[in-house]
Amino acid sequence: MSYIVFARKYRPQGFNEVVGQSHITTTLKNAITQNRVAHAYIFAGPRGVGKTTTARILAKALNCEKGPTDNPCSICSSCLEITQGASLDILEIDGASNRGIDEIRNLRENVKFAPSKGRFKVYIIDEVHMLTQEAFNALLKTLEEPPAHVKFIFATTQAHKVPPTILSRCQRFDFRRISIKDIVASLKAIAKSEGLKVDDEVLILIAKHSDGSMRDAQVVLDQISSNTFGNISVEDASKILGAVSDDILFNLADSIKAHDPVSALKMIGSLADEGKDAAQVILYLIEHFRNLSVMKVANDPSSLIDASCEKIKLYEEQSRKFSVEEILYIVYTLSSTLDFVRKTNMARVPFEVAMVKLTRRGSILQLSELLERLDKTEKSLSRTTDGSVSLRATEGSEAISKNGLQQVAQFKKEVASVPAQESKRPRNDSETLPTTEAKLTKNAQFDEIISSWAAILNQIKDRKISAAMYLKEGYPESLESNTLSISFPKSSQFHKEMLESPDCKGLILKAIKDSTGMNLKVKFTLSGPGGVQNNITKDAFEGSLDDNSVIKDRPRKADEEPIITDALEIFGGEIELDK
Ligand SMILES: [Zn+2]
Repeated sequence: MSYIVFARKYRPQGFNEVVGQSHITTTLKNAITQNRVAHAYIFAGPRGVGKTTTARILAKALNCEKGPTDNPCSICSSCLEITQGASLDILEIDGASNRGIDEIRNLRENVKFAPSKGRFKVYIIDEVHMLTQEAFNALLKTLEEPPAHVKFIFATTQAHKVPPTILSRCQRFDFRRISIKDIVASLKAIAKSEGLKVDDEVLILIAKHSDGSMRDAQVVLDQISSNTFGNISVEDASKILGAVSDDILFNLADSIKAHDPVSALKMIGSLADEGKDAAQVILYLIEHFRNLSVMKVANDPSSLIDASCEKIKLYEEQSRKFSVEEILYIVYTLSSTLDFVRKTNMARVPFEVAMVKLTRRGSILQLSELLERLDKTEKSLSRTTDGSVSLRATEGSEAISKNGLQQVAQFKKEVASVPAQESKRPRNDSETLPTTEAKLTKNAQFDEIISSWAAILNQIKDRKISAAMYLKEGYPESLESNTLSISFPKSSQFHKEMLESPDCKGLILKAIKDSTGMNLKVKFTLSGPGGVQNNITKDAFEGSLDDNSVIKDRPRKADEEPIITDALEIFGGEIELDK
């Protein structure tokens, strides 16, 4: 009997034997038992995960002499023919080599004829995404009105290349990569049946190398077993696979821990001599440190690491030498090196540089240690900050109060310097009469307010110094409909708002009436910082130095201190003299 490769010899013959795709096989079994099998399926997924195998099992299930059944017997003539690839009713077409419209036209002609023996004609088109657009169009017509005796099963590794018009007429199943655990279990069964002497470690290595493809794993086991006459060591397997042995990875990790760049470089050198791909080695090393980090953080690391129990013990041991932060730093450095290695022809050099960098790194603090240090620093900082803040606040408030006092003093100086006779200018009775008032033009009235403004301020100051201070920030802007607009710069919004109180308004109106004899209303407006005000205040508050000096020198009573009167204004209360 001729030799049959493992992949074919151990190909699943029933749905239950398909590994790692139970989400699909269960659905298909249910469809068969409920007689709800679709007329077209698309099986999408990576290569070697069981797409065509499942398609053949489905074909068998539909045509089994004891079926349709979710568990084809595999011994009837229909099942046997399908297993041997000899059934006339099952047509397997390779989409890659039969991609033209002629092949699909043949298929369409063929579809019309009833199955020769079984219940259904099953068309399995592999790599269906390779068909030409014309072929897809031709196929579409058949898919739109398929004869009842025809089933289509399309397999593809690139479902996104299949036109939506085709996809929308198929039931789609997405096949998954097969887990390392499942592959190892499957390889183990084969090894046992073949009488191979092989460690779990070898099987894990093969499974990892096959990237989720059962077929690839079986092919590799086949190849290795024939090369080693059934007695397979890890070294043999590593060599054949071009893999990096775990020993090297452990040693590279140790060299990083020991700050030993020389031994790291020697190892990289011998790996290069063996023809190992630097990017591949870095990937293995990243995975190695990933496993170490899992050992550090997981309660049950064995469920997260694909390795034998012995290997997990070694990981555990080595992981104790590194902190999580160190591992993350190493993985980060290796990952960024990987990008670089892939872009250059001198792949070995960046790898060596990275290893030198890692072996010569400074000590990487643990996060907990860092947090502790940060905490300490924060505390010592907050001590000084508190101090300086309160110091600054003291200085600030002092500055503010000093500034305030200066402002008040300046204001007092200015107001007091207004010639007394102006504010107490004797008023002609006739001037206060409405008739006389009416004779004045608007402009004349406004002019008079401007010229009397200092006196008005002065009078208000005598009653309520804060109101005068607030008012000083604004300036008379216009007089219309008997309403005097006093404008404030935006920066003096506070002053304006303080003046809105009926008290202040009343005070201002009374002062205006006393000074000019006009019965006006007053409104306050906000504007940009104006220049008029400066001129007015400058003009209005020009006074003699002597007067100022008198004011300055005269000792004030407590209730004359502007800051105190202001405080009284704002907070209320009375002055009690400290005796
Ligand atoms: Zn059968």
